[in-house]
Amino acid sequence: MNTPAQASHDDSYASEHDHKKCVSEALGTAEHLCVVRGVQLTPIRHQVLELIWENHKAVKAYELLDRLKPQMDAAKPATIYRALDFLIEQGLIHRVESLNAFVGCRCSAHQHEQLLLICNNCQEVEERSAPEVMQALSQEIKQADFIVHSKALEIHGICVKCAQTMAGEQH
Ligand SMILES: [Zn+2]
Ligand SMILES: [Zn+2]
Ligand SMILES: [Zn+2]
Repeated sequence: MNTPAQASHDDSYASEHDHKKCVSEALGTAEHLCVVRGVQLTPIRHQVLELIWENHKAVKAYELLDRLKPQMDAAKPATIYRALDFLIEQGLIHRVESLNAFVGCRCSAHQHEQLLLICNNCQEVEERSAPEVMQALSQEIKQADFIVHSKALEIHGICVKCAQTMAGEQH
């Protein structure tokens, strides 16, 4: 099923989609942003980003190491962590704190705060900008005179695809 071009990311996300397009867009954006910012997307950083983008599931550092080993014999945990730190710094990926895992960012090109919907069944993570929620949250934090270092909302549950599969299995 093809998603109409005018559909927003959020609409196209849950349905079947052309994942090759996700990957090429994400890598293209990353390459562009790094040039604009004057930072180096080294081969290892590029490779780690590509591995994270294999799908929309949250992936753990040791899983990335396993995927990287066949391609890069000398890959060590420290190599992965340094690459992950860089990618987080550049806003190209998100750390999913509650899973200690990582997921590619779908909107790196613009400033955003994220609401992450995490499926407990398939580990897919949907990212939503939720501007109204974030604004309300900022207001609340401001009233507490609290200095924010990072802000992420992580909601666990079951994604629409898994819910449909589960509903189908019950019949
Ligand atoms: Zn995709
Ligand atoms: Zn993001
Ligand atoms: Zn799911």
